[in-house]
Amino acid sequence: MGGDAIALDSVSRWFRSGRGRVTALDGVSLTFARGSFTAVMGPSGSGKSTLLQCAAGLDRPDAGSVRLGGTELTELGERRLTLLRRERIGFVFQAYNLLPSLTAAQNVALPLRLAGRRPPKDRVREALRRVGLDGRAGHLPGRLSGGEQQRVALARALITRPEVLFGDEPTGALDAATGREVLALLRDMADTDGRTVVMVTHDPVAASYTDRVVLLVDGRVHGELAGAPAGEIAERTAGWGTGRTSRPSTAPDARACPNSAGEQPC
Ligand code: ADP
Ligand code: MG
Repeated sequence: MGGDAIALDSVSRWFRSGRGRVTALDGVSLTFARGSFTAVMGPSGSGKSTLLQCAAGLDRPDAGSVRLGGTELTELGERRLTLLRRERIGFVFQAYNLLPSLTAAQNVALPLRLAGRRPPKDRVREALRRVGLDGRAGHLPGRLSGGEQQRVALARALITRPEVLFGDEPTGALDAATGREVLALLRDMADTDGRTVVMVTHDPVAASYTDRVVLLVDGRVHGELAGAPAGEIAERTAGWGTGRTSRPSTAPDARACPNSAGEQPC
């Protein structure tokens, strides 16, 4: 505990679009304390995913700096950045992105295999136990529920024992009860394991599991809430919607998006 796990200093990111330049992040400065659990909220297109990607070394800012512990990410070449991501950062998405032909255990072991390491069986088992899935090691993803698949993805993100875990709407495709299980796990990863957890969410109830909510509007930090209950978070984020660009016309409730493991938010 103690100190910042991640520090962003004046981070900006621009994208070229047909009509010109889109500013996704506009001078964002933020720190995330070691062992803390933070939610990032904002309207669709406010830069939440870009913020996470830049903080995780998956994308490079056009200006500013990102520090992970003592390492300045923006100064690293591709190779060292890849190694750092592999060893020190975990990432889970709304879509679980499991490989369908591999068992839960094989999916969890994948990051170690990709790093050229032989995955110790007890370590894979321990990661699955950590997310409450020790009985599912031999199952293929298609035989698991959405919540179970997301917990496999979580175990896969944890197998390298990363300092920081990022989640981009990790409960976005789950029903409320299953989402709560995943949120309780994320909370516990900060509290018990001392990992730093940063999660994008649109859901005030999900955000209420965190220590701190960072509000992002038009690529800028627009305020913060600390230890706020769901009601207060809902008031501050009212009208921001779910961030889903298209709603299935058959689903009257925009949140009703059962286990769509699609690549895009549904
Ligand atoms: P959020 O996650 O809050 O919905 P994003 O970070 O995905 O927002 O996007 C912020 C802005 O940057 C949006 O206007 C989006 O269209 C744009 N953007 C994000 N990624 C790209 C990209 N790879 N190419 C072009 N524009 C992008
Ligand atoms: Mg996004």
